[in-house]
Amino acid sequence: MSQKYGHFINGAWIEPDSGEYFASTNPANLEHLYDAARGNERDVAKAVEAAEKAYHSNSWANLSQTQRGKLLRRLGDLVGENAEELARFESLDNGKLLREMRGQMANLPDYLYYYAGLADKIQGSQIPTNDLAILNYTQREPLGVVAAITPWNSPLTLTTSKLAPALAAGNTLVIKPSEYTSRTILRFAELATEAGFPDGVVNVVTGFGNEAGSALTDHKAIAKISFTGSTTTGAMIAQKASARFIGTTLELGGKSPNIIFGDANIKNASMGVIAGIFAAAGQTCIAGSRVFAHRSIYDELLERVAERAQSIKIGDPLDEATELGPLAFDQQLEKVRHYVNLGISEGATVYSGGDNANVDLPGYFYAPTVLTDVNNDMNVVREEIFGPVAAIMPFDSEDEVVGLANDTEYGLAAGVWTQNLSLAHRMSRRLEAGTIWVNTYRAMSPMSPRQGFKNSGVGIEHGLESINEYTKLKSVWINT
Ligand code: NAD
Repeated sequence: MSQKYGHFINGAWIEPDSGEYFASTNPANLEHLYDAARGNERDVAKAVEAAEKAYHSNSWANLSQTQRGKLLRRLGDLVGENAEELARFESLDNGKLLREMRGQMANLPDYLYYYAGLADKIQGSQIPTNDLAILNYTQREPLGVVAAITPWNSPLTLTTSKLAPALAAGNTLVIKPSEYTSRTILRFAELATEAGFPDGVVNVVTGFGNEAGSALTDHKAIAKISFTGSTTTGAMIAQKASARFIGTTLELGGKSPNIIFGDANIKNASMGVIAGIFAAAGQTCIAGSRVFAHRSIYDELLERVAERAQSIKIGDPLDEATELGPLAFDQQLEKVRHYVNLGISEGATVYSGGDNANVDLPGYFYAPTVLTDVNNDMNVVREEIFGPVAAIMPFDSEDEVVGLANDTEYGLAAGVWTQNLSLAHRMSRRLEAGTIWVNTYRAMSPMSPRQGFKNSGVGIEHGLESINEYTKLKSVWINT
């Protein structure tokens, strides 16, 4: 019999109000995995009520900052102890390689330890005011109940990036995971209870975006919405939040440039291009989907990338030898097909790949694809495909490539490959993106803040700065 998961509210499993569940499917073989509760407005109301009560309860509100840090540390330990199960759940749910998910889970405790270490360093300061009779100081306070809404591509890492600073700062949470990846988030909430977080501090309501998700963003008691997902959904959420004057942290889409100059180490750069776009079958917000190669090395880079792309082993994500798994669900596959066909109709050439993933599995596979004869006017170059499709274009000068790279609504990340240090610094300054990688791609750490520029987001995740996203600043004036 298939496994059924309720919502996780107030430290317990709760049946959905409607009695309805929805199926989760393995995208590699289309087998049914489990059923999760289909959340509605009333389920969300229960979860928010539990989170509100917990926020004001003695067991949470009166917990010292050091104790909050200890709980986060314990949760980090438990995630480490359960890493294999979490990695498997996530790989089955979204089709990412098991070995990649193992890597993510191995790093995940560090996110919790980092914010555990910050929990007792959240502090205000004493401010001089020129009036000697006045003592003015600031203090940082938690916001209340935070709504965390997360996508399917790295569910647990992206949820932890919100949960860890939010809890360190003393908030409580209601999480709405993607409908495609409910299981790891539910297990995570269970581990939080096991770690000793009081009931109601971490709640999960599963279900669809236009039901559970919008009910959560509409709930009057939510003090902040922290969202990772598409720019379209982010824009809707930003509108709702601004009408109620509550804050948001929005981590949105991208169409990141990966720029290879003529003097770059071509071997490393081509591997960087491959990792930039084909990791997780291109389903990462930071995917380096627009590749600009200096004309002097364009042919060689194209050959290297296409040759490696053709040799990538496509198959079952649980198999250690597999290098590229399926797309996460049917609409993802349809979207990639649509964009490649649109590209062809706009004049692009499928230099390698296309809809010919030769796999002995019925899942949503698409071969790593390289498009040439593309330019900035085409939809395949302007819009986020979220699949294994690289558009490779030549350029002649620094000014030209800066113009091309910045000619986008997005500003999440950018890669630069050169051995010229001055050029690297100049490009880092000139590119409009929140993260710049030079001679590397995808490097990330809980200690390093990241922010999307332009339509790629609002607010900061990771690093010291992220704590401030989950606190409000109070100014106290005392006439001495
Ligand atoms: P999505 O916007 O469709 O969904 C994200 C989450 O929002 C899901 O939980 C979904 O159920 C929920 N949702 C959908 N409609 C909603 C609504 N009306 N109200 C409230 N919640 C709603 O995005 P996705 O397809 O799950 O994720 C892929 C997108 O996420 C890509 O655009 C990718 O670039 C982006 N992403 C960004 C980052 C980043 O750090 N910037 C990281 C990962 C993914």
